[in-house]
Amino acid sequence: MTAVRVGHLYPDYLNIYADRGNIAVLTQRAAWRGHQLEVTALGMGDAIVPGEHDLYYIGGGQDREQLLVAEDLVRKADALREAVGGGAAALAVCGGYQLLGRGYRGFHGEDMPGIGLLPLETVAGERRMIGDVLIECELEPGDKRTLAGFENHAGRTRLDPRAEPLGRVLAGFGNDGESGLEGCRSGRVIGTYLHGPLLPRNPWLADWLLAQALAHRLGSGDAPLLAGIPDELECRAHAVSAARAHSRGGRFD
Ligand code: GLN
Repeated sequence: MTAVRVGHLYPDYLNIYADRGNIAVLTQRAAWRGHQLEVTALGMGDAIVPGEHDLYYIGGGQDREQLLVAEDLVRKADALREAVGGGAAALAVCGGYQLLGRGYRGFHGEDMPGIGLLPLETVAGERRMIGDVLIECELEPGDKRTLAGFENHAGRTRLDPRAEPLGRVLAGFGNDGESGLEGCRSGRVIGTYLHGPLLPRNPWLADWLLAQALAHRLGSGDAPLLAGIPDELECRAHAVSAARAHSRGGRFD
């Protein structure tokens, strides 16, 4: 049994899209492999100690909540950067994803600082991009997978020219509704607009994150192979969401 240590950033502020469901999935999938997920809340004023967590999680929120946490996150930036530099993994969803970039200008023009962990910037547009979304990813060379989820954001995210997207949009809006790109990936750090929550219908990503976190925990460069789990229900959930993305994703109503 290995304890996988998760630092959950601002669970009291950034949690509006059932982001806690992602943690529940990680907990259960770790337990099925005989590992225990230890989740610590990292809220306002709490210090991040590099090396203490194997995976950081930050969820989504409204502009108002993002504004409340942005300055505090900046105070944690150096420690978070050091932690990730030491091999910790991270998953950032929607509002949290925006704040891992260099900054987010909200719907009412509020400038929120980001921490520059991901090479991107976000500015809110007039119309919210809402609906199901399907993307294709290749986190491991030659291993193409899809992610299905729901998006609801005003922010338009622009990646820097050489930044690596999380995936390419098959249906839905993605980062900005124009580039055909969704999310951003930098090593073991993943940022995405997909929620709903994300991991229940995309178990392969949950396992990828767990494997990265375990690699950090065990001090190994290579992520361990996790035992397979029959994911019938999860696959059905993915298929329903993917079909909805194809039939009505990416449209302003
Ligand atoms: N408030 C941000 C936006 O509207 C993020 C939204 C979210 O986290 N779902 O773009």
